[in-house]
Amino acid sequence: YASSIFFLSYTVGDGDKSDEEEKEDRATQSLLNKLIRSNVVNNTNQVEVLQRDPNSPLYSVKTFEELRLKPQLLKGVYEMGFNRPSKIQENALPMMLAEPPQNLIAQSQSGTGKTAAFVLAMLSHVDPSLKWPQCLCISPTYELALQTGKVIEQMGKFYSEVKLAYAVRGHKMDRGVKIKEQIVIGTPGTVLDWCVKLKLIDPKKIKVFVLDEADVMIATQGHQDQSIRIQRMLPKGCQMLLFSATFEDSVWKFAERVVPDPNIIKLKREEETLDTIKQYYVLCNNGNPDNETYLHRIGRTGRFGKRGLAVNMVDSQRSMEILKTYEKHFNKKIGRLDTDDLDEIE
Ligand code: ADP
Repeated sequence: YASSIFFLSYTVGDGDKSDEEEKEDRATQSLLNKLIRSNVVNNTNQVEVLQRDPNSPLYSVKTFEELRLKPQLLKGVYEMGFNRPSKIQENALPMMLAEPPQNLIAQSQSGTGKTAAFVLAMLSHVDPSLKWPQCLCISPTYELALQTGKVIEQMGKFYSEVKLAYAVRGHKMDRGVKIKEQIVIGTPGTVLDWCVKLKLIDPKKIKVFVLDEADVMIATQGHQDQSIRIQRMLPKGCQMLLFSATFEDSVWKFAERVVPDPNIIKLKREEETLDTIKQYYVLCNNGNPDNETYLHRIGRTGRFGKRGLAVNMVDSQRSMEILKTYEKHFNKKIGRLDTDDLDEIE
């Protein structure tokens, strides 16, 4: 099977989730996607590129060499097993690495190479001889921030002069002790504290600002406000980059507040179908979406003509009944997965 295995779990109830629960769902889903995906998804669909300056030539790259990366970074990219830029990277990287810096709003489903792209942009813009934060990246949760931090560490493996600091809860710092690391990754609240209350970061010296997982971010009102407060402290000319897996109106409105004069890149979704997805269930806690949501959720696994695997968590008689309604609705068998037999899963 393709590398994507999708676990579904739903709460039995009236389906009325609080904002906080909704946000947690999104953040968890996003993290799960990252943890289980080891390859970039191969999207054959067209990218839509909206250039701020329509007169500048549309420029995309098919190789990492064309980007003229620092040799240490090119080595890091190849060491990670990347041979060529993904669809979104083909367009986003030249824009992000251009001089003068360009702002970007990019939307594409998870697994399309957004994180790798902005990490490369941050690492490229750092001046390692300067010992203060120059790139600032905010993520919606602690776990997602750590995950992105790992990518920065991996890609920067051969660029050891560049250091990374984590502005996340639990990382206690004394007031006024200036941070020497050139890249800071963190959650909005802690980053704001580090800039304003503790004065560990001088926001005026930031050259690249990345707001990752904007759709998850805005699910919490507080995060939205904190992000905007951080953004307002940044100097004119600071490059602003915003990424999102989805693009509802609310995300779009937020993006336009955070990123002035943006270039825009969108990657269209593939059609969803269940034909290439093998479905199973296991018994556990939780369960209750409707047919559409179900298709939408598990549709992610089997795209691009690859085969996919969906595992439903069945926690009660009621969720078993719901599962039976899917079987009937889509006319596809959902067999019980023998959880003692890992070979069967593989
Ligand atoms: P996103 O941020 O859009 O969810 P990631 O940047 O996390 O996507 O990439 C998804 C997976 O694909 C990761 O495992 C990453 O290491 C890998 N990846 C990213 N870019 C490439 C590439 N150009 N070639 C091969 N693999 C890639």
